[in-house]
Amino acid sequence: MLIIASSNGAIGIDQAMNALKNGGSALDAVETGIRLVEANPAEHSVGYNGYPNIVGELELDASIMDGRSLNTGAVALMRGFPYAISVARQVLERALPHVLLAGAGAERFAREIDAEQWEEMLTEEIQAVWRDRLEDVGARGLIARQADDGLELRDEAPLLDWVKLTTDPERVLGTVNFIAIDSAGDIASGVSTSGWAWKYPGRIGDSPIIGAGNYADNRIGACACTGMGEMAIRAGTARSLVLYLKTGLSLDAAARRAMEDLRDLAGDYIGGMNLIALDKDGGHIGLSSRAGGSYIFQTEDMDSFQEREREVVTIPMRWAGEART
Ligand code: ASP
Repeated sequence: MLIIASSNGAIGIDQAMNALKNGGSALDAVETGIRLVEANPAEHSVGYNGYPNIVGELELDASIMDGRSLNTGAVALMRGFPYAISVARQVLERALPHVLLAGAGAERFAREIDAEQWEEMLTEEIQAVWRDRLEDVGARGLIARQADDGLELRDEAPLLDWVKLTTDPERVLGTVNFIAIDSAGDIASGVSTSGWAWKYPGRIGDSPIIGAGNYADNRIGACACTGMGEMAIRAGTARSLVLYLKTGLSLDAAARRAMEDLRDLAGDYIGGMNLIALDKDGGHIGLSSRAGGSYIFQTEDMDSFQEREREVVTIPMRWAGEART
């Protein structure tokens, strides 16, 4: 039994391992671990109290994949339900003919299955961070006006230039990744995120896109990503890594190849990428486009998780066409 996770999964990995030790499946472990991250108010890139989009709304994306069957469930742009991973799992479990529900439809589904709904998804502190960010960039006058009870946005507020007004995703990235192998040798992977802070309303990242930010196949292995989701969507990163493994490459070589595909992307907006991956025999790895990153792992005979440095495959970053360090 093995669990690997992005380092912000530390709050959930113990309980995820307990789920496995108590006979739970890899899917159970992934959901258990991610729920604890989603509920953590100190984690601002996942679930409750994540950074909102540019109009101050928290839109959550999540996906989960069952490596036994390649069945999957995902939700995107979901508001008001903190446990996006559990709603995603129900998309999988309820045997719908669909794999991805977004926006109002995802929320409707969440209500139908009685998913936990919270009235307030942001603390005052995070709402203040959002307001300050708008002020910092001088956007407040453009897209918002002061109402008695706080900021109110004009419906017709022009947001097309939002990307110049806010920030690049590198300063406000984050997502949680969990991948587990259970006692039966079955693999599952899960990803949950609030996406880029200050993203354009309706923007969907790689986390709920199977093959981009998440992929698991019992016969081969699994991969999950955090970083600039647009890149993982364009390169099909998680699926690419698993496919490279399938062709016979080692885990290390397959992971590097998937990162190199990202490095080869053209375009004006190229940011960072991080991935974790394992093979069906329990080998695991973490990679990042920047030095200093780590991921965590735990096997059934370990009392607590260990942290391991991610290997680096440098991807030169560009923002609005300009090179960035
Ligand atoms: N991959 C996420 C997204 O693009 C964000 C992140 O991992 O930081 O939505």
